[in-house]
Amino acid sequence: MKKKSSFIVSIEQITWEGIDLPVSLGQEWFARWLQEAPDLEFSLGKPLTGVVHLEKHDDAILLRGNLQGELIYTCSRCLDVFAEPLNLAFEIFLKGSQTAVPDEERELTGEELNEDYISGEELDLDIYLREQILLALPLKPLCRPECAGLCWRCGANLNRESCSCRSSGFNPAFAGLEKLKQD
Ligand SMILES: [Zn+2]
Ligand SMILES: [Zn+2]
Repeated sequence: MKKKSSFIVSIEQITWEGIDLPVSLGQEWFARWLQEAPDLEFSLGKPLTGVVHLEKHDDAILLRGNLQGELIYTCSRCLDVFAEPLNLAFEIFLKGSQTAVPDEERELTGEELNEDYISGEELDLDIYLREQILLALPLKPLCRPECAGLCWRCGANLNRESCSCRSSGFNPAFAGLEKLKQD
């Protein structure tokens, strides 16, 4: 049997004053996510902890939350693995399903990322937490802004060693130019 998410909140439970739910996302939580989405390009360092506040409004539920922890990425230039703190704050308005528009139309208003739609009597907070984490991920993770990357010729990690490709007079920056001259 599929394990039910531990972040299910009954909508009835949500009051006008709002309720606060402590959140702690550890390795077990991440393993479950990775199982469902094996192509995730990061892993969990320190557990993500925070608070989710849920508040009833006239035609929506306000979901406001924060998460702090640490994620582990692979540098897009040198392929080193590095950890970086994650510090998230988010606010989403969840509207009732009766006002929901079909998925195709929603794509057109994709910039309204802080709105979502709900249906049924329960909220699965995990869906929104995962979504917010994905939105916060760097497009091209870099171990440091000035990462020198790998030598494209010999594969040496230029942050740690200098290979002989450059000192031998071969300048990769001009390799293309030389080729042009020959043509
Ligand atoms: Zn790097
Ligand atoms: Zn090299």
